[in-house]
Amino acid sequence: MKWSKEADQAVSRVPFFVRKRVRKKVEEEAERTGSRMVTLDHVQNSQKRFLSEMDQEVKGFQVETCFGPSGCPNRAVEGEGIAQELEQGLLKRDLKTFLKEKVQGPLKIHHEFRVSISCCPNACSRPQIVDFGIIGVSRPKITDEPCSQCRACIDVCKEEAVNLEESAESPLIDFDKCLSCGQCISVCPTGTLQEVSQGFRVLVGGKLGRHPQLGKDLGKIYSKEEMLQVLNQYLDLYQSRNQRGERLGEILKRLEDQ
Ligand code: SF4
Ligand code: SF4
Ligand code: SF4
Repeated sequence: MKWSKEADQAVSRVPFFVRKRVRKKVEEEAERTGSRMVTLDHVQNSQKRFLSEMDQEVKGFQVETCFGPSGCPNRAVEGEGIAQELEQGLLKRDLKTFLKEKVQGPLKIHHEFRVSISCCPNACSRPQIVDFGIIGVSRPKITDEPCSQCRACIDVCKEEAVNLEESAESPLIDFDKCLSCGQCISVCPTGTLQEVSQGFRVLVGGKLGRHPQLGKDLGKIYSKEEMLQVLNQYLDLYQSRNQRGERLGEILKRLEDQ
């Protein structure tokens, strides 16, 4: 469906993590009126409807992804289907019913448990500010394949983690600086740099709101199955230690302070 410039601008001011959902709602509003173009009126009417029916809109959790699964060339992992797997796991927990029992007063979007997956360390979907943030990584290794000294790996590395001495046969990687974005692997024409492992970093307890905080990096690279297990462990903790519908970050902080 086409969008007028004013409608597009109005929705671009909506926070990133709910924008996709808001756009869908506005398009439904336009369809309801039989229009094939979304206008500012549709945005405003949808906003009014949303506020009056917010309790029905809350589903207890949100899963966001970056544009990796749509084909972003920077992706370190494919990310295809992971959001659906995450959603299925979260749906089974019926977090809406859980939150209704915990929260005093009406349920709001900001009560929901948020998961965000980014398919490379550029982290476009802001996994640092959600309850459970996931970052796809691809770790390089130096193989015995002869290096052509083209220096493409040095040029592409934003972390200045690759070094190639004039007399050296192949480069060295400083893994204290390397973020495992996989870019040097993609540009190496000889196979001197290859992927040694692929997986996911996990950040827990991030949030915005009255007391914003960044998620804590668990400091490991997990396989997809391990990452899903870690999510389940944190969801168990979230549900068992939750007192009044607080976010995971608040629960972790309270447990740390005890
Ligand atoms: S996080 Fe990486 S893969 Fe995802 S959209 Fe951003 S640059 Fe692309
Ligand atoms: S994986 Fe990324 S950060 Fe690490 S050395 Fe290669 S380009 Fe640099
Ligand atoms: S990109 Fe590959 S071939 Fe070129 S300098 Fe780096 S390791 Fe050597």
